[in-house]
Amino acid sequence: MISIIPIPAFRDNYIWAVRSGAVAAVVDPGDAAPVLAWLDANGVELCAILATHHHADHVGGVPALRARYDVPVFGPAHEHVPERTHALGEGDRIVVPGIGLPLSVFDIPGHTAGHIAYYTMPPDPRVFCGDTLFAAGCGRIFEGTPEQMWSSLAKLAALDPGTRIYCGHEYTLANLRFAAAVEPASKDIAARIVHERDKRERGLPTLPSTIGAEHATNPFLRAALPDVMARAAAHAGRPMANAVDAFATLREWKNAFA
Ligand SMILES: [Zn+2]
Repeated sequence: MISIIPIPAFRDNYIWAVRSGAVAAVVDPGDAAPVLAWLDANGVELCAILATHHHADHVGGVPALRARYDVPVFGPAHEHVPERTHALGEGDRIVVPGIGLPLSVFDIPGHTAGHIAYYTMPPDPRVFCGDTLFAAGCGRIFEGTPEQMWSSLAKLAALDPGTRIYCGHEYTLANLRFAAAVEPASKDIAARIVHERDKRERGLPTLPSTIGAEHATNPFLRAALPDVMARAAAHAGRPMANAVDAFATLREWKNAFA
């Protein structure tokens, strides 16, 4: 029996603990201290570390965790992850030692050049997607191109609608404010704002999301829809050439969105 627990870190990061009994792997440990505190408080031993991309708020805690636990470090082949022991890319399959969880790996470049996702198969599909797909949003494009980010998001969007999404940050309410600006008439977005705000007011994470919920409310997955393209065109003051153009326009609009 696997359970997945968010360990809050920094201002709005989540480090995901994937626990089976008295052992757990962690995904994207940007800081060791909250992970060590959680392990100690729950009597759990660390069995593996998984990284989605090289940013310090996702891998900064690896050396301190490894100083206490001699565990494997899985990470993207094309990025620097401290003390990485297993270099992964598209099509790789691993079984997380200690918890026996099979995962397959996707390349999802765009936020960073070598960003990867970890996916667990049906009947209980889940994806750990770092800073690529967020609840109601997506990561900034730091190292890749809009084309790359669009196709990475399309790859995630093609997963089963019930797939649960474990991403790296609690950005959901801010993302939904932008989603409502893009699609002001959307009842799905309005309902989700009420639902997610209620969770935050009770101190709960809004995550995991699901692929199905993102199809309904995430403007970045909806960029190819005629109504969303029209909103992007109105914002840019020019027609949209294609879905990537609309996606890139939305991303720039969001970057400047207060
Ligand atoms: Zn990042």
